Amino acid sequence: MEKIKRFIECLIPITVCNLRCSYCYVAQENGKTNKMPEFQYGIKTIAKALSKKRLGGCSYISICGAGETLMPFEIVGITHSLLENSHYVNLTNNGTQTERINQILDVSLEYRSRLHFAFSFHYLELKKNNLLDIFFENIKKVKAAGCSFLVQFNMCDEYVPYLDEMYDICIKEVGAPPQIAVTRDVTNLKEIKLLTALSKEEYKELGRKFDSPLFDFTLQNFMVKRQEYCYAGKWSGVLNLATGELRRCYSDPSPQNIFADTSKPIVFQAMGKSCVLAYCINSSHFMSLGVIPFKRSPTYASLRNRQSAQWYSAKMQKFLSGKLIYSNLNLSFCFDLVAQIINRIYRKKRLTGLH
Ligand code: SF4
Repeated sequence: MEKIKRFIECLIPITVCNLRCSYCYVAQENGKTNKMPEFQYGIKTIAKALSKKRLGGCSYISICGAGETLMPFEIVGITHSLLENSHYVNLTNNGTQTERINQILDVSLEYRSRLHFAFSFHYLELKKNNLLDIFFENIKKVKAAGCSFLVQFNMCDEYVPYLDEMYDICIKEVGAPPQIAVTRDVTNLKEIKLLTALSKEEYKELGRKFDSPLFDFTLQNFMVKRQEYCYAGKWSGVLNLATGELRRCYSDPSPQNIFADTSKPIVFQAMGKSCVLAYCINSSHFMSLGVIPFKRSPTYASLRNRQSAQWYSAKMQKFLSGKLIYSNLNLSFCFDLVAQIINRIYRKKRLTGLH
């Protein structure tokens, strides 16, 4: 059984979407510009750049567009090439792009068993556009094809009158309640808040019925500044799939281009204690996979899979129950650890010397 070597969060700079959700981050930040992405490198280059050998092992590669991820046709070839490279792939999508989903599923069962679909349940837009049937048909199709999936919705005030309906329809169609994602108000990036007029406690209470570990974990880490040593950058990265720019994490100011020369090794260097963000903005991915190894966190699978309804295949459950440290426990990790300990002792001595 493969262990996860690295986690790569791939972003696609697309701002087109067939839905118009009020809480959409693209709309919140700069309005809908309706732009398709321009991939500056071909699929062969992307495949070489993210080969199993270059990444050091079998990795979890999550792809998410700012708009709808599955709209660009290139996504099919990119996904297939990553699966060919033995990686596990997540596609976050709105569940309505039937043709694209069919094209993606047109691979062997072994490849499909390494595919994970995160279906965003934009209930009001799906209902308004008569897309609810298509949404659930697509979920059932990927499940029947041997893939794993997750259904999640963005908690926000406009859903309050519909929460019971949303709960019931998911029980009926996918055997369990949806997981919940926390929705941020990003209109003022200097002061990120929850997108709600309610207090944090009231907001939390809205999700109680859904019993969502994803919601609980994300809320627990919302606006909590991380002080620990973070291995993001060494064990993970944030990649712009259109340009090839890889950052160690979201706040890394100096990306490296890993598509320009695929014969060059990638420099994997830990963020350590240099994260400047007010909190870990994607904790449910990064922290659950273990970029902060000495902070106990639930596993990625346990935050998402509804085991009673078997949203995950046994293979995906096993893979995403792993932590990055399992395959990165090597000499370089030990050296890092010794350096951190020496650094801490030295700092302590300096501080006590000052008193
Ligand atoms: S704490 Fe979170 S946001 Fe900060 S560097 Fe680590 S993974 Fe990235």
